[in-house]
Amino acid sequence: MYIMHTEVDNQMETSHYEIDEQRTAELNQPELLVLAARGDPDHFYCILVPSKIHSGCPHCGNPFFRNQGNMHRDFLDVIPRGDDAALITVSVEFRKSKCTAADCGRIYYPSCSFASPYARTTRRLDDAIVRMALREGFTYTETAAMLNGRLSRQAVYRIYHRRIKELGADTSDQTLWFREILKGDTAY
Ligand SMILES: [Zn+2]
Repeated sequence: MYIMHTEVDNQMETSHYEIDEQRTAELNQPELLVLAARGDPDHFYCILVPSKIHSGCPHCGNPFFRNQGNMHRDFLDVIPRGDDAALITVSVEFRKSKCTAADCGRIYYPSCSFASPYARTTRRLDDAIVRMALREGFTYTETAAMLNGRLSRQAVYRIYHRRIKELGADTSDQTLWFREILKGDTAY
């Protein structure tokens, strides 16, 4: 376990996070660090790695920002556990930042690649769903059942087609979906 200091308003040591290295290794999502003393074996509370938190304004490249608060978003994910796979919930804290450049001043969230835009599942789980269909020949209904009812048949169908399309050509703007979050929940 170690303490990570992150910048707020470009000044050090305003936020302190205790990172659980063992669970971070178990999660094995390179963009995410698991917070210590929170959640349970099936629920991981995470922050983004510092390089993602401080990626700068995506509109003008200005690295300076003002902190506008944080928001959380939950994702369904899958990890190997023993000889089986475990479905877990990953709650990720995203910092909302305001660019300090006078001619920009836009609000932005860090961009990341562990989930598709608008998704409530990780790409790793999406890929598992695609493999279940393509390799094992499972129907959407069978896949939904194997996911312990955490996703509906319809959600499995949408995820499958989204991921197939994405694997063909990913032309999405990785930051756009965060703006949609503020307007309310979006379907898969
Ligand atoms: Zn900017």
